[in-house]
Amino acid sequence: MMIPIAKPLLGPEEKKALLAVIDSGMLASGPLVKQFEAAFAAYCNVKYGIAVSSGTTALQALLHSLELAEGDKILTTPFTFIATANSILSAGARPVFADIDPAGLNLAPAAAEAALQRDEKIKAILLVHIFGLPCDIDAFRTLAEKYDVLLLEDAAQAHGAQYKGQKAGSFGKGSTFSFYPTKNMTTGEGGIVLTDDEALEEKVRLYINHGSRQRYHHETIGFNYRMTDLAAALGLEQIKKLPLFNEKRQANAAFLSRHLQGLPGLSLPSVPTGSEHVFHQYTIRLKKRDALAAYLREKGIGTAIHYPIPLHKQACYKGTDFAAVNLREAEKAAEEVLSLPVHPALKKADLTAIISAVKEFWEF
Ligand SMILES: *Cc1c(COP(=O)(O)O)cnc(C)c1O
Repeated sequence: MMIPIAKPLLGPEEKKALLAVIDSGMLASGPLVKQFEAAFAAYCNVKYGIAVSSGTTALQALLHSLELAEGDKILTTPFTFIATANSILSAGARPVFADIDPAGLNLAPAAAEAALQRDEKIKAILLVHIFGLPCDIDAFRTLAEKYDVLLLEDAAQAHGAQYKGQKAGSFGKGSTFSFYPTKNMTTGEGGIVLTDDEALEEKVRLYINHGSRQRYHHETIGFNYRMTDLAAALGLEQIKKLPLFNEKRQANAAFLSRHLQGLPGLSLPSVPTGSEHVFHQYTIRLKKRDALAAYLREKGIGTAIHYPIPLHKQACYKGTDFAAVNLREAEKAAEEVLSLPVHPALKKADLTAIISAVKEFWEF
């Protein structure tokens, strides 16, 4: 049996909650979406939450609601899932990619500053807390002030992560999360936008509901990006379990690191002091990445490459101005990264099997 790279943990609580929604007959816009929005926003210490159908629609709704002008740009990392950058395009803006810091694989403040100096059209920085590690928030707050740009967060991998005691998703003008089944908590498909700004909350809420407060009265142009009550029922149970899930991820990561340290040529994830990493992924780096992935697969251990192609090298962006950049660290990382299983459903025996197999590979 394969040890999977990801696995959602759903129990009798989730089953009971789903059955209750079915019995209520209120599958879509019932009371649970509101409850989940309040619970998740409170968990992140942010005022407003607007629950939506995915992390992608959360990004689209947030970025659209900033009302950017034609030609405006948003600075972001090339080392992320494609939804981050496509949402910028969908809002009518252009992405600008700057290089990453090889230590944490997040956007590098120095590279971001160089881009801000070059390009006055950049109106916002969209941070991605990659794999659950918060970005260098102090550095980006300084940049945001110095260059008068907004800070935004794609926190799709960082539910519960903290920087200096403050939760990911609470640093920007607005932030987004995904509740896809591989994430630190799930609602099946689902997402949320968080903000402390009342006017922004109102714009996002209109956008995700056909621009309508009163049925068939459409104030603005919008779409249906709403979360269902079925999804919210799952979310209300999962958020109770999120602290335990994250503790398990952190303990699994610590166990892997304790036993894998010292292998020549292997670099392990590191956590800067002051940050709490929630290990959405446990991602190692090595030159013989593909050989190790094949070896582990043979041993029944699932791995994944996050990410094999940095965004500026993606086929869909070929020929665009924003793809015409050399981002050495992102390109190098793409060749060397490998994610090992770290999810909370792993047993001790799974972890020791992973460690043994990796060590065996080194003995060849
Ligand atoms: C998962 C993810 C998304 C997209 O979320 P979906 O719910 O799959 O639409 C966006 N950004 C990042 C960084 C992600 O990891």
